[in-house]
Amino acid sequence: IKSIAVLTSGGDSQGMNAAVRAVVRSALFHGLEVYAVQRGYYGLIHDDLRQMDLRSVGDIIQRGGTILQTARCKEFMTPEGQELAAENLRRRGIGGLVVIGGDGSYQGASKLSKLGIRTMGLPGTIDNDIPFTDFTIGFDTAVSICVDAINKLRDTMTSHERSSIVEVMGRHCGEIALYAGLASGAETILVPEIDYDIDEVASRMRDNFAHGKRHSIILISEGVGRGEDISKQITERIGIDPRVTVLGHIQRGGTPTHNDRILASRLGDFAVRRLIEGDSSKGCGVINGELVATDIHQVVSTKRPFNRELYELAQRLSQ
Ligand code: ATP
Repeated sequence: IKSIAVLTSGGDSQGMNAAVRAVVRSALFHGLEVYAVQRGYYGLIHDDLRQMDLRSVGDIIQRGGTILQTARCKEFMTPEGQELAAENLRRRGIGGLVVIGGDGSYQGASKLSKLGIRTMGLPGTIDNDIPFTDFTIGFDTAVSICVDAINKLRDTMTSHERSSIVEVMGRHCGEIALYAGLASGAETILVPEIDYDIDEVASRMRDNFAHGKRHSIILISEGVGRGEDISKQITERIGIDPRVTVLGHIQRGGTPTHNDRILASRLGDFAVRRLIEGDSSKGCGVINGELVATDIHQVVSTKRPFNRELYELAQRLSQ
């Protein structure tokens, strides 16, 4: 293997740049040529690649977003699009591809590997919805943004004895809500993995105020539904009108935490080393501090198990 390529795909996340930097610098360290693909699979289909050197990834480890840009590319969903992308890599003699993205991007990598392209997936998404890694790149930063926002809300809520509903991202995965909720002492955490009873949620809120709580926070994961709808249902039941804050895309921005930068750096270097060793079709992760590579087909066909232990802990501590 003489050269590799790297791309970022799907939703961006903090730490993607740190991962790109690690892939490029590690590849160069090992004497490989390395190419960056602009705009994910779209750039692969349109042959939008440029050769990288040490300086081309300077001053990015601390930046959110991705200097390679990202895209959601419909064309790549078709077998013709995938073949075109693979052909562009073959023509340039590129022997390996590192894909940094979420589960959709992993699906794409898995398709390319079936066409004979050696691929490595790095979990780049704030959602923490990829299995076979404790954390995805960006999750730690997204959670700390949520916690910071909830701290600010708490100050003003306590002054006014208010209740708040905070809606966070995560798609079908409740991990952002779970971690942010536990870390910020939310009274109720609603996640798509666990059924909830709105009557119970409402009466708990009423009881909390009756027992002297001066504020109440319900954290809801976007996969559960809209905060406004939950707020209406609570008002109908107990006459309290919780204010809704939707954190939205600010969760995806800003400088990555040191945890995300270190995770990205370790994973980027690991993916390159595995490609050099001849490995392929793996999703990379860190489990209990150890770097692991799992068959990418297995990664995309496995649902990440929900962390019930943390959920139950949050419940015990939020009375
Ligand atoms: P996030 O979880 O942060 O949204 P993601 O990687 O899951 O990121 P997607 O939009 O689902 O984001 O996927 C990114 C791109 O990967 C798609 O635009 C498409 O080009 C490609 N892709 C997704 N699913 C498939 C699939 N089943 N087969 C081939 N390519 C796919």
